[in-house]
Amino acid sequence: MQMGEELYSGKAKSVFSTDDPELYILHFRDDTSAFDGERVEQLSDKGKVNNIFNAFIMEKLAKKGIPTHFVKRLSDTDSLVKKLDMIPVECVVRNYAAGSLCRRYGIEEGISIDPPTFEFFLKNDALHDPIINDSHIISFGWAKAEHIEAMKTLTIKVNSILKKLFLEADMLLVDYKLEFGLSNGEITLGDEFSPDGCRIWDKSTRNKMDKDRFRQNLGNVIETYKEVGRRLGIDLD
Ligand code: ADP
Ligand code: UDP
Repeated sequence: MQMGEELYSGKAKSVFSTDDPELYILHFRDDTSAFDGERVEQLSDKGKVNNIFNAFIMEKLAKKGIPTHFVKRLSDTDSLVKKLDMIPVECVVRNYAAGSLCRRYGIEEGISIDPPTFEFFLKNDALHDPIINDSHIISFGWAKAEHIEAMKTLTIKVNSILKKLFLEADMLLVDYKLEFGLSNGEITLGDEFSPDGCRIWDKSTRNKMDKDRFRQNLGNVIETYKEVGRRLGIDLD
């Protein structure tokens, strides 16, 4: 697979064309950002850890019938993916209260949320990713009604698969963000699933094992990501 030109450089990954017009290469960098890109630091090994972590999760999800863009891992930091027409919304499911939900509604951090909530956010750093609803998505043409339903159904199905996976490894999947795109008209899971885009707590101590370690300056960010991987049986070294 021949790597072509860089098409886009985001906060944590770069997207490259390939010699196949239907395939892209995602290059995972060590850049780590928080607060809509206001704070950016390099964390050694982060690109590699997230690329390998994401490959493991995407393969698990595909086996359970979730359509994903993931084709194969090419190296420590690069993966081959199907080219998607990305939908500019973020899909967030929450099993425990944390982050913006607590700030927005005055909910106490850590309470169990049953049934889990589902939220859409507009992917727009300049606007700080505002929360949006189905009506906004349809009226402003960000996605069609049938695609909204497909994103909700798939995001919730991912929850039932991953909640169990993490729990069996003594971790709580607190919340997570997914991004979808269209491939031949089909809603397909894109982007990444890694500790950068979800919250994971140790089941007994509730120690934070995700990007909140970076956001809140708790230290040992990548060491803790590796511990999450170790518990799931992923070799990240
Ligand atoms: P951001 O754009 O939020 O700063 P990243 O640094 O992770 O995020 O950049 C990766 C970009 O690639 C994101 O904008 C994401 O929506 C996009 N992307 C992810 N998977 C695909 C795909 N399969 N096809 C096209 N674009 C993708
Ligand atoms: N999230 C993300 N990218 C974003 C916004 C949120 O990956 O641009 C993830 C975040 O890591 C968490 C979940 O989505 O796992 C919910 O985030 P929240 O709305 O609580 O926002 P935050 O408190 O991170 O600002």
